[in-house]
Parts: sequence; structure tokens; C-alpha cells
Amino acid sequence: MSSLNATEQSLCVNGVWRAASDGSTRKIRSPHDGSLVKTVAEATVEDSLAAISAARVSFDSGVFASWSWAQRCQLVARVADLLERDADEIAHEESADTGKRLIEAQYDVADVISVFRYYARLGLEVSDRQVDVGDDRIQSRITHEPVGVCALIGPWNYPLLQASWKVAPALVAGCSFILKPSELTPSTAIHLIKIIHEAGAPYGVANLILGAGAVAGAPLTQDPRVDFVSFTGGLVTGKRIMAATSETVKKIALELGGKNPHIIFADADLDAAIDNAVTAVFLHSGQVCSAGTRLLVERSIHDRVVSEIVRRAKAIHMGGPADPAAETGPLISKAHLEKVGRYVDSALAEGAKLLTGGKRSTDTAHASGWYFEPTVLDGCTTKMTCVQEESFGPVLTVEIFDTEAEAVSLGNDTIYGLAGAVWSADREKADRVARALRHGTIWVNDFGPYRPQAEWGGFKASGIGRELGPSGLHEYLEIKHIWTNTSPAPSGWFRQQGENT
Ligand code: NDP
Repeated sequence: MSSLNATEQSLCVNGVWRAASDGSTRKIRSPHDGSLVKTVAEATVEDSLAAISAARVSFDSGVFASWSWAQRCQLVARVADLLERDADEIAHEESADTGKRLIEAQYDVADVISVFRYYARLGLEVSDRQVDVGDDRIQSRITHEPVGVCALIGPWNYPLLQASWKVAPALVAGCSFILKPSELTPSTAIHLIKIIHEAGAPYGVANLILGAGAVAGAPLTQDPRVDFVSFTGGLVTGKRIMAATSETVKKIALELGGKNPHIIFADADLDAAIDNAVTAVFLHSGQVCSAGTRLLVERSIHDRVVSEIVRRAKAIHMGGPADPAAETGPLISKAHLEKVGRYVDSALAEGAKLLTGGKRSTDTAHASGWYFEPTVLDGCTTKMTCVQEESFGPVLTVEIFDTEAEAVSLGNDTIYGLAGAVWSADREKADRVARALRHGTIWVNDFGPYRPQAEWGGFKASGIGRELGPSGLHEYLEIKHIWTNTSPAPSGWFRQQGENT
């Protein structure tokens, strides 16, 4: 046993837990009060290359890919069982790293388990497809094979949940992978990789690299030995990764951000709509890719809706993981808090009206943490930076519309296309609007729910590809066409030797 603290041996390469090659470490601090959560290894470029080698050797050995679908599904079901066994411990780890309330982390872990269970079932349904080519001598078959070595790169807001959307289908498909969580939230990824080994995955299938994106993450996107990169994170990083992967023509899937319209018509159930609008933007302090950050409200109900949202926002109780009364928590970091503040400042400079919040919390209980007050900005227009770009904080912008067409036009007036919601008692109108909105998920008279069975992903700059559902598994599969001629014959195209013209 090395003299290093066990948490510093937190890189997993070929089934071996080890420290960074140069001994570097990173201190993970609580967003709630800055206290030390743990110290983990900070991977070097060499560590990332070693993890790629391990995954490549593992995949090329063909061992895991040659397991039957049923065997791999059993492994994934066993991972779900072990996650269930450790659910409480994992929720505490997630809550400590992210600063989110324990109950939110518990919901996240329950969702993670259901994702593994879903893919453990779905993998059993994958089968070859026979193609009728209109010739009895030909057997034509479409098969599914693992895409290969995958780099799975995730964000800090839902660390384990976002990892599960990638890891579960990768395992079912028979891929080998390198998981790189956010440098800020490594704990649950460590736990997950331990569980995957305990469940019986061959060494080299599941590798873990922790550390900064520019150092530990970048090689995963550049190395020719990686076949597929699945990335969830911000637009700027997504573009960088797309450029890096283009050099070696990798398959990629990108889950990027959103500026998600929350449209409320005057005929909606306003109590439900207002309550959901508050949850949609202030849950997890707005650090949610699908947060309803753009309120589009019909003119006749603007004052009632907005005044009630402001009243509710002012009453939100912010607190740390251990505060049982907390309804929402801190932002992830000082840098992020400052970024959210800059977005609010820019909106005010561009003419928005601040109705509440807009600054770091001055509550003494929040003095050592990164708490930003729930914020409502009225009088916004689509031209404003805060309406177009993700602040990724508890900031609601309010815009007014007069007609259905204008609601749709405003809702689509963003480079993003991740999610949105429509509230109306008129089902036909709501359905028309839902179809016209260019976003990957639309909720009608609801906000936020998703299920592992249904695809998740974005139109436009919100990403490429889909996670969850059958499409989420197919991202990890290559399709192969096998054409077998049962009655071989010359092609007859070119003249045979000695044949006259
Ligand atoms: P980032 O884009 O900053 O980072 C995401 C991950 O990419 C991190 O692990 C990061 O490492 C890594 N990374 C950074 N640079 C590189 C690089 N050059 N090469 C390889 N990896 C790199 O996103 P955040 O972590 O800030 O997460 C917030 C963003 O994620 C928001 O924009 C949000 O909308 C989006 N998101 C989208 C979801 C969706 O389903 N569409 C779901 C959840 C979040 P490091 O930790 O060092 O920064």
C-alpha cells in the first residue's frame, strides 16, 4: 500500500487505482462553505494517454465485446443493484461536491439507478435485421457492434446522472471507455467506477481520469485511438471539442446548453403555471441545462404572473446540504457566481428592469459560500445577452407576447434548442405551439420531467445526437451490413482472360 491517501489514488487505469503520474492533487471544496470535501488526483496528459491505451487494449482484445448482450445487460443490472445498495452514501457524496440539497441528490441517484435498469432491459431487445434484397441467393443482414473506445466527458451540475446517460449504454453496447467528470465534482464518478468493477466488468473497460479539461480532457478528444466522444457541457467547450475531434474524424455526441422558453398563455391554469415557472428557473439555483430561464407571458396576465413569481422568489430559502429547510443551494464556484453577476449587469445595462435579486446573498449564513439571490428581470427582449446566452444561474428574464405566432417566434429566437414549455387550457393551441417550437423536449402544462425511455437532446446549438431512449444506445453502436452470397458466381463485368471481344 502506498503512503498516499486513498482518495489521492483516484485515477483508475486498467482496473488499477493510482495517483497522478506527477503526484499532483486537487482539493475539492464545498460550494456551501468552502470546507474541504476531499483531495483527489489531478491527472496529467500522460495519465490520460495511459487510460486511452488501457481502453484501446481492452477493446481490441475483443473480450467484453464478445460477451453476449444478455451477459452485458446482467452486468449493467448488477451495477444498478450496487448503486441501490450504496444510494445513501452516493447521495451524500454528490451533495457535498455540488452543494445541492441532499434530497435533490437522492432524487438524482434514484434517476441514475433507473437509467442503468432501463438500459439493462433495452440491450436485450437489440437484434440483427434481415434485409430482403429480392434475390434468394443473397442473405443481407444489418448487425450492431460497439463503436469502440469512448471518451465520456461530463459537467458539474448533475455529475453522476449525466455520467449514467453515457456509461450505461456504453457498457450495454460492449464499449471500453474513459470517464472524465468535471474537475469540480469527481466523487460519484469514483464510486461508480468502483461499482462497475465490483459488478464484474473486465479490467480496462471502465477507466477514470480526473482533472482539468484543458489538460486531462483534451487528449481524449484528440487521440486517434478514441473512436467516439460523448460530451455534456457548455457551448464554448462543445465547439472546441468538435474542432479537436474533427482532426481524426471521430464520431461525436454533444449535449450542450439551452435558453429554454417557458410560454404561459392567458387561458392557462395560472396557479400551476406560476408554481412550475418558479421551480423551472430556481431549482438547483438555475444550474440546469433545461432550466426555464426565459418566461414568455401573454400581455393580459403579465402583471399577475410576474408579481406572484417575484413574491415567491423572495421567499425562497437558500441553504447548504445539511439545512433541512433549504429549498435551493449555492452556485458551484466563485468564478461561476461572478459570471452570473456579469449576466445580470449586462441585462440592466441593456435596459432590463430588476424586480428582485441580482446579487450575491448578503445573508451571514451564506458568507462562506457561493449563494446568488433568485433574480427576476422584467422588460427583456431577445436581443439582450442575458436572454440569448446561458447565465446558468437563478436568473429569470421576462418577455411579453400578444399572439400565438409571436410566442412561437420569440420561443425560437435563440441559437439554442434544448427544451421549452407551453401552458394553455386549449390543447389544440398548446399542441400547435409544441410542434412549432424548435427544441428537443417540449412540456405541455408541465415542466421538467424526463424518463430514461424517452430521448433527450437538442436542436440547433444545443447539441448533436441524443441521449436516453433507444437512440441513446445507438450512439454507442456502429451499424454493419453483411452481404452473403450463398451461390457465388463471377461478376461478369470485365472480360475473362482469353475471351474474345
Ligand atoms: P464545461 O463545458 O465547462 O465543461 C464540461 C466538461 O468538459 C468538464 O468535464 C470540463 O473539464 C471538460 N472540458 C473542458 N475543456 C475541455 C477540453 N478542451 N477538452 C476536453 N474536455 C474539456 O461545462 P460545465 O462543467 O461548466 O457545465 C455546465 C454546462 O453544461 C452548461 O452550459 C449546461 O447547459 C451544460 N449541460 C448540458 C446538459 C444537456 O443535457 N444538454 C446537461 C447538463 C449540463 P473541467 O472540469 O476542467 O472544466
